[in-house]
Amino acid sequence: MRYAIVSDIHGNYEAFTAVLDVIDGMDVDGIVCLGDVVGYGANPNEVVELARTRADLTVRGNHDQAAIDPAEEAYFNSWAVEAIRWTRDKLTTESLDYLTSLAYEAFLPDVHLVHASPGEPAKWRYILSPQAAAREFASFKESFCFIGHSHVPMIVLRTEVGTSELLEGEVALPAGARVLINVGSVGQPRNGDPRACFAVLDLEDRSVRLVQVPYDIDTARAKIIESGLPRFLGDRLLLGQ
Ligand code: ZN
Repeated sequence: MRYAIVSDIHGNYEAFTAVLDVIDGMDVDGIVCLGDVVGYGANPNEVVELARTRADLTVRGNHDQAAIDPAEEAYFNSWAVEAIRWTRDKLTTESLDYLTSLAYEAFLPDVHLVHASPGEPAKWRYILSPQAAAREFASFKESFCFIGHSHVPMIVLRTEVGTSELLEGEVALPAGARVLINVGSVGQPRNGDPRACFAVLDLEDRSVRLVQVPYDIDTARAKIIESGLPRFLGDRLLLGQ
């Protein structure tokens, strides 16, 4: 079985449709979404509808949570607060119902799926370094754990000899090894590469690779600015920061 694993789409319709086009050209058996379907981007309802119809599994992200629970705004910076209030105002009842239906974590055979951290799925903790990732291995028992949340892709491999970070973006699991993968962000990358990012998991050959997809950033940025969302949220798409 092969799965495409996307995360942090953040209402960016152009990025998500570009990624889905690439996925449609691959031989995958399913699509998984690790949350933050909305927040920041100008097309929350359109992206919710795509997630609802195209993803086989979707877990809840902190922006999805904030869209249905304003108390979550307490943990947001000012751009995120402005964007989630704009988003909440735009979301249809159907979209809100969908976001409300999402669980904090999901599973495939030997695969753990969560937005932020397997240790505390509802606490939205950030795993930003290989050292922090290494500590998470005690919090899941599966061979594969996929996360999003930081918008920075990272693959951390745990073998008998220790833990190592893989920068090449592709790994085949040695026997007995386990791996934690941050799949990066479709709709608001922050690793200095403005392309949309997602992961492909192959459970037969036990491999994971990260895929980068160019998309129409100018249109996504223009929509953000024209809709009255903070201009910075559009400008940062150009830099992937
Ligand atoms: Zn996010």
